[in-house]
Amino acid sequence: MKNLPQKQWKDECGVVGVWNHKDASRIAYLSLYAIQHRGQESAGIVTLEDGQQHVHKGLGLASEVFDDAILDRLKGQAAIGHVRYSTTGFNQMANAQPLHSNLLNGPVAVAHNGNIVNAGPVKERLKSEGSIFQGTNDTEVILHLVAKHPSSDLVECLKSGLSELEGAFSLTILSHKALIAARDPQGFRPLVLGKITDGEGRNGFVVASETCAFDLVGAKYVREIEPGEIWWVDETGEHSVKFGARRARSSCVFEHVYFARPDSVVFGESVYEVRKSAGRLLAEQDRKEGLTDFDLVIPVPDSGVPAALGYSAASGKPFELGIIRNHYIGRTFIQPHQAVRDVGVKIKLNPQTAVLKGKRVVVLDDSLVRGTTSKKIIALIRAAGAKEVHLRIAAPPTVSPCYYGVDTPEKSQLIAAVQTQDEINKFVGADSLRYLSLDGLLAAVKGEKGGYCAACFDGRYPTSLFGLDLMPKGNVRGL
Ligand code: AMP
Repeated sequence: MKNLPQKQWKDECGVVGVWNHKDASRIAYLSLYAIQHRGQESAGIVTLEDGQQHVHKGLGLASEVFDDAILDRLKGQAAIGHVRYSTTGFNQMANAQPLHSNLLNGPVAVAHNGNIVNAGPVKERLKSEGSIFQGTNDTEVILHLVAKHPSSDLVECLKSGLSELEGAFSLTILSHKALIAARDPQGFRPLVLGKITDGEGRNGFVVASETCAFDLVGAKYVREIEPGEIWWVDETGEHSVKFGARRARSSCVFEHVYFARPDSVVFGESVYEVRKSAGRLLAEQDRKEGLTDFDLVIPVPDSGVPAALGYSAASGKPFELGIIRNHYIGRTFIQPHQAVRDVGVKIKLNPQTAVLKGKRVVVLDDSLVRGTTSKKIIALIRAAGAKEVHLRIAAPPTVSPCYYGVDTPEKSQLIAAVQTQDEINKFVGADSLRYLSLDGLLAAVKGEKGGYCAACFDGRYPTSLFGLDLMPKGNVRGL
């Protein structure tokens, strides 16, 4: 979900849904726990009990927002939940999800991952027709589109409302009688369906942004919610309809590069295997260019680990944990202030002299955005005694901002958009720098099978941007 107006632009969220489970709130909680990496600012769960909804939301991690007593109060056998990525400068609590409202067709709660790129114009139109908006987020547009529709059938309202929207939306929705999941026609963000059985023999469903949630709650992966699909389950069983115009699929390649957990299956592919392939392909690229004079392959933990394993296997050079990560802090980019971020890299990553002294090392990272993290890491590796440091990025240069839900800085702050590879190499202080080619990345995700959005790497946006590209992307956080 994205905040409007466009001063701030911090997105990526995770959504879950549960149907027909005696401990729906706890299954939702555990699922949120599994996808916590998708957002750490706020967490929320709405449950359904006898046609009534119970809501609890708060700022912080799922484990900070919920405790046993709260989960006990969230009664019912169906639930949806949301974890939200940080947004500074806005009333954070007002934007916490799920959003919930009492509409003509009863209580409706919505959890959203992605950015609706035409939320601005749709919102203006709705306002001119009398709609009053409470928050500054794009998700509220969905509730208003549903509220204005004359049908008493929520799915009919959604079919019509969602058809008006452009961009990225993976949704879980709870009504007074159904769990609904919907995904934009281009399938930007992941959304998967699983089956679960509770201790009393009830057969139910779980919906989540990533399959790692299913592993934790003991659900069985069934399939993706298809792009352009509204799926729902109520007491009469499972149903599905398509909505909107048929569009070419544009799933986000960056989910595979960085965002998703490596133990998830995203867009039908294992994230871990994709990242390993990316590393392998990068090693092959290097070999063709004769870049084989080094002693060790080390990852930037944790995001560079699978790629470094692939690179090591393909190059035949040993994989070593040359940098040890402190696991008691979150991803550095979560921290909203520059001062905290600067300390962040040092607190988080500690290069080991025992491994690095006198060695020529290839360092693998998943992506290079502003280059500031790599610069600090390379300085630390050199300080630990490495003789040569060769930086390898298991993705192409990041040259364009994302408008579909990943937090990337505006173009002027993307180092590859404003500097040549040699200049970047100098800036980060490496002996050499190489990226995986876009063809290589698409081969790693088996891109030929389905359509991927790689706009962050090639600037080709698969929708109109409705002027969003003309506005600043706002306060850029360190990544
Ligand atoms: P930097 O080049 O200093 O901007 O940092 C790039 C590092 O941040 C990469 O190694 C990734 O692990 C991580 N990263 C890349 N994209 C994002 C993002 N959208 N949000 C948070 N972290 C990211």
